[in-house]
Amino acid sequence: MRPSAVLSVLAIFAALAGCFAFKTLVFQSETSNSYVEMIPQKPLNLRAFTLCMRVATELSGEREVILFAYRTGDYDELNVWRELDGRLAFYLSGEGVFFRVPELGALQTHLCVTWDSRSGAAALFMDGRKSLTKIYKKNHTVRPGGKVILGQDPDVYLGDFDANQSFVGEIGDVNLWDYVLSDTMIQDMSSGKRVPRGNIFDWETTQLKINGQVDVLHQEL
Ligand code: CA
Ligand code: CA
Repeated sequence: MRPSAVLSVLAIFAALAGCFAFKTLVFQSETSNSYVEMIPQKPLNLRAFTLCMRVATELSGEREVILFAYRTGDYDELNVWRELDGRLAFYLSGEGVFFRVPELGALQTHLCVTWDSRSGAAALFMDGRKSLTKIYKKNHTVRPGGKVILGQDPDVYLGDFDANQSFVGEIGDVNLWDYVLSDTMIQDMSSGKRVPRGNIFDWETTQLKINGQVDVLHQEL
């Protein structure tokens, strides 16, 4: 092979390796100012969604922990929490829907929540296993015009953070679709198979704005 051909083969391998590089965020300590803003590919105007992430935290039973926050001026439009009692919950501007599941811990959990406005069907998946379905906020719409952040719970448009609600641990592979993925796709994703990338957030390409003390780690898959 000519040197130029060798170089182009190497370039292809490098590009392929780059495709499978995976980034993850480490929130080392409890703060009221460390967070990561995620820039969506289109506005969050949602009548349905699937939101997935890989998450690990050693905060167990000590306090509530924010896992994902999307807030407009006046409302927490779509927030995911680990509650004080270990339940997982999500809130669409108002009362939440709660799931009594095994507690998050130091080992990574692949977590998804799904919701559909028409039926109100709300469910949660942990490592591909599906919860019971609950009926929640039928005919509701998640409204556009807010900001999505990881690490803090805003109580105004982007601020009023409380260290006691902050995320401490590791989080990554945060993807959001504006529709409900099939159970099989969510199972495949949790076991590392490639599925259609999130059409609102695709973790591989989503622009992140880091604020405060957050470490971004890159690893090869
Ligand atoms: Ca708060
Ligand atoms: Ca809030």
